[in-house]
Amino acid sequence: MNRRQTIPKHLRYTVEDFNRQFPSDDACLEHLKEQRFPSGIAYCEKCRKQQKHHRVHGRPVWACDVCLNQISPMAGTIFEHSSTSLRLWFYSMYLMASTRCGISAKQIQRETGVTYKTAWRMFRQIRSLLSEPDMQLEGEAVEMDESYFGPKRKRGEKKGRPSAGSSKQCVVGIVERKGRVVAMTSENATKQKLMSIATERILPKSTVFTDEWAGYNDLEKAGYTHKRIPHQEKVYVAGDIHTQTIEGFWALVKSGIRGVYHSVGKNYLQTYLDEYSFRYNRRDKGNLIFNDVLKRACEPLDAPLVAECREMTPSPEVPF
Ligand SMILES: [Zn+2]
Repeated sequence: MNRRQTIPKHLRYTVEDFNRQFPSDDACLEHLKEQRFPSGIAYCEKCRKQQKHHRVHGRPVWACDVCLNQISPMAGTIFEHSSTSLRLWFYSMYLMASTRCGISAKQIQRETGVTYKTAWRMFRQIRSLLSEPDMQLEGEAVEMDESYFGPKRKRGEKKGRPSAGSSKQCVVGIVERKGRVVAMTSENATKQKLMSIATERILPKSTVFTDEWAGYNDLEKAGYTHKRIPHQEKVYVAGDIHTQTIEGFWALVKSGIRGVYHSVGKNYLQTYLDEYSFRYNRRDKGNLIFNDVLKRACEPLDAPLVAECREMTPSPEVPF
């Protein structure tokens, strides 16, 4: 997985680069303003016309020169109403984007002195920006597979697909070889569920590689070319027929969750999958993934999402 230890120079963005670009809260605010108002804050809602605006001293807002109506670049973003400094938000995004395996709320707490609750919420909100619900995969080699996340098997518990009522969470993943990945939690791995995920996420005429699980039986009926690897006969690769790419992705996420987060609350697993997929899908961008995260953070969000995140109680990153 870790073939490339050093990032090519043009894709590097070091902590020094970060400190240079964002030395202060004001520099971060200025960046946010430029993203949201590329040609400056020029229109006053209250005067209903173009007006000059000025920065209000000591506050992260701009005001109309004539009526003093205030505009905050943070309004409607994950930063609104947050008492955490903008620079810490930016730094947390930088860390999340530049570590291959993610970073825990605990580590941010240790490094910056914010409370665990603050760090956890901040990460939860950043992760909420990273989902890609509309992404559809396609091509000559698309692999689809399910995996189960949760506590270690108890002694004597069977390997493989857990029985109903297990505390493990089913996750379905689809990946284009040498391409992009999508991964989502799923209630189960029945044919009905798997087929609805496949038709929603894989474009017609693609070739889909899976294992022998009966849940994939109808892929051909749905218009895909379907190739299967007989895992039960202990065959894992037969020419180009394998599911090693998606299995590699599972390994990456699982070792990350074990190593960095120890484990993840069942309700929040999807956001961690989103985080890993987001980085995986931009793995050729080196540390510049930070720009993509930052760009999303600077866009206004759906209001309910902001409110929801603010209300949430941290789930300890411990086994579920
Ligand atoms: Zn005005």
